[in-house]
Amino acid sequence: MKTKQIVLASRPKGLPTLKDFRFEEVDLSEINKGEILLKGMFYSVDPYMRGRMNDAKSYAVPFQIDQPMMGAVVALVSESKSEMFKTGDVVVGSLPWRETFIASEKDIRKIDVSTIRPSYYLGILGMPGLTAYFGLTQIGKPKEGETVVISGAAGAVGVVVGQIAKIHGCRVVGIAGTDEKVKELKDEFGFDEVINYKTTKDMTKAIAEACPKGVDVYFDNVGGEISDAVINNINLHARIALCGQISLYNATEVPMGPRIQPMLLTRSVLMQGFIVGNYQSLFLEGSQQLAAWVKQGKLKYAETVEHGFDKLPNALLGLFSGDNTGKMVVEA
Ligand code: NDP
Repeated sequence: MKTKQIVLASRPKGLPTLKDFRFEEVDLSEINKGEILLKGMFYSVDPYMRGRMNDAKSYAVPFQIDQPMMGAVVALVSESKSEMFKTGDVVVGSLPWRETFIASEKDIRKIDVSTIRPSYYLGILGMPGLTAYFGLTQIGKPKEGETVVISGAAGAVGVVVGQIAKIHGCRVVGIAGTDEKVKELKDEFGFDEVINYKTTKDMTKAIAEACPKGVDVYFDNVGGEISDAVINNINLHARIALCGQISLYNATEVPMGPRIQPMLLTRSVLMQGFIVGNYQSLFLEGSQQLAAWVKQGKLKYAETVEHGFDKLPNALLGLFSGDNTGKMVVEA
């Protein structure tokens, strides 16, 4: 049987382009005992994939040239030689960018799609949701009445962070890149204030105005000048959860910013980086809490869905131009 796959054709310098990907047809081998034939339903694209396109040591191993890109995929079992899965089951796993693929039973897990949209396992009930939950609760430790600022607020992680901060009784201020996102975060997701960083000249002043009592918790998804401006408003004993630095992922030179250490020191600020996998032993608890909030209607979610397997590279590139609100997924 043949299938289509998308491989990394070249390592990008700066912003990736469509030329860094290549579509191919490949033959699939026979299914052996303990293996399952899967058909991709929803594919996740995530900012960390940009780092994996570089040949650099990091927490996730680099993609290899001429080898398929990989990521979280929700897939349908179309044939099974495993006792753990049957035809018709829906599963999730870290899988190659192929339309059809053979996976080992060890690499996938069954998901309940009876009441939950399958793609939610790539977003609010998957890695981004857990990132929001653990980054905010374990590092941000928000207390009632505190002010929480979130950059990248309209993305897969950001929309969840804001709502969890509201559940904790905080004032929530988001930073996002379009007026539509600003409106949606306020009207749909209950943010108290949202700043459009693309149309705001003086971010330090705008954050001061949106946070009259200063910033107690900063959930940083983007880094760069936006974070410099937030840190200018940071309070005594504030906590900064360093989740992502997307504004720097395509940088070709190390950018120079203000030295923030004196500010952190004199205000006794805790700044901690984290990778969601640090909290693996707590994933079950985190997933159950997120699922409960979703079922209770306390957590809403947004998705931007691109249609067609061939759209995967465009969807990934779209993350760097802010094409998505909520989780960016590709429906096959
Ligand atoms: P998003 O869904 O937020 O998508 C990326 C968004 O980032 C875009 O929609 C865009 O929104 C914004 N953006 C893109 N370029 C820039 C820029 N130069 N400056 C400011 N904003 C920019 O992605 P995720 O929610 O999946 O991830 C958010 C962050 O969290 C990323 O940095 C990611 O790497 C990180 N992450 C970290 C994890 C961890 O374990 N530490 C796990 C998961 C994610 P806009 O229109 O607002 O510009």
